[in-house]
Amino acid sequence: MVKHKWRSCKAALSNPRTSKLRLAGLRVLELARDMEGGVFPESLKDAEGRYVELDCVNCDAKLQNAKLYCGDYCQQFSGTVRYARKAIDEGRIVKAEVQEGIGQRLLMLSGGGYPTDRRALTKQEREAILIRDHRKCQECGRKATEVDHIRGDSSDTRNLRALCKNCNQGAAVENARIITREEDPIEWERIFEMYEAMAQRIAAPLPLRFCDDHLNWRKAQYSIRAARKAMLREIEEEEEETDFVDVDDYLYNAMQKND
Ligand SMILES: [Zn+2]
Ligand SMILES: [Zn+2]
Repeated sequence: MVKHKWRSCKAALSNPRTSKLRLAGLRVLELARDMEGGVFPESLKDAEGRYVELDCVNCDAKLQNAKLYCGDYCQQFSGTVRYARKAIDEGRIVKAEVQEGIGQRLLMLSGGGYPTDRRALTKQEREAILIRDHRKCQECGRKATEVDHIRGDSSDTRNLRALCKNCNQGAAVENARIITREEDPIEWERIFEMYEAMAQRIAAPLPLRFCDDHLNWRKAQYSIRAARKAMLREIEEEEEETDFVDVDDYLYNAMQKND
């Protein structure tokens, strides 16, 4: 059961020195605070059976494979919900860096989610870039531990550079666009709807979706994936059997005609 232990953050919200990231995090947390107690979840027992179906566990989109999410966006959305619920549960939600962490995830999500699949590098590729750049952050010269895509998703080595953790986060924030309602009302509305949907999932006393359950999801996701894989295998086997019967019938009919 998630209890809300944070006090109102109105002061930080109106403080001009509050970071861009923390502001984004606080906006969603303020929405969640206002929703407290207003949402009633389905029982988790019902949920568990349902999640064996091949649906995205975050948005119910139909999937053609045994994956859990339809894409990066949904995976990161539910990860952010769990992150916030865990922080609330453990009382860490009042910390500025936790609020910033939520804000950073939100900014990524408002751009459609960080494209982890497309940008995934192997350990060797990553290591090669760090060695090429002498493990020196290409922005500030400190020790580099991360590899940054300079522009877009291309993993061509010319588009990769070594950065320290700080600068890599900074680059992600700079690239994130923060828009006002006046600038772009349609885009603003889209992002606000996302914040509201997330606030609702954060605020629910019991998790609204199985994947929001920070205590049980990590373990449960493996059994759900295994169950989905087994189901897909069964479907494939059934299809093979049907093919076999079809060929038999075909031959039988052909022979009948020759008679
Ligand atoms: Zn989805
Ligand atoms: Zn740096």
